Amino acid sequence: MLYDDFYVKSLIRTVEDWPKPGISFRDITPIFSDPKGMRMVVDAYVHRYIDSDISHIACIDARGFLIASVLAYELRKPLILVRKKGKLPGKTISQSYALEYGEAELEIQEGSVHEGAQVLLFDDLIATGGTLFAAMSLLKQQGANIKEVAAIIDLPDLGGSQKIQASETPVFALCAYE
Ligand code: AMP
Repeated sequence: MLYDDFYVKSLIRTVEDWPKPGISFRDITPIFSDPKGMRMVVDAYVHRYIDSDISHIACIDARGFLIASVLAYELRKPLILVRKKGKLPGKTISQSYALEYGEAELEIQEGSVHEGAQVLLFDDLIATGGTLFAAMSLLKQQGANIKEVAAIIDLPDLGGSQKIQASETPVFALCAYE
């Protein structure tokens, strides 16, 4: 299905001052409850990556899981879960990162990706890029190369996508909110 930016944006709901004052929260939940929108979004990534040489798809807890798992199924690629601290059993490696207020930590299971893997890293939204940089660091510590970072939404004013690109990692976002 051909990607229609206007249609997808019509499914992204902006909730002002949530979860705290001053934040315009971009709620993608309506995409998942609209089968046409869901297909349009997934197809856009399938189209982009079907002929690429990515070997794995990694995705970030929790909204990143929703599109990336369908994409991994469609592209027949292994899926790596980057989870919030304390969710993964067995040996993990973790990376803490700064949030607007305080700190958070992401983890992957040791051995979930091998040396030289060509990883597409997926999250729902890029704001400051802190979350994606933490995930990139975990994957790189395991010897992976980040082929591209993909998201549904980019917030370019917050500078994350620019910083990721400046670190020589390509970024692809379906839509942006200035
Ligand atoms: P950051 O680490 O600053 O790039 O923030 C990205 C992460 O926080 C993503 O996993 C998003 O789900 C979430 N996030 C940050 N800002 C927003 C926003 N305005 N609307 C929705 N989600 C957001």
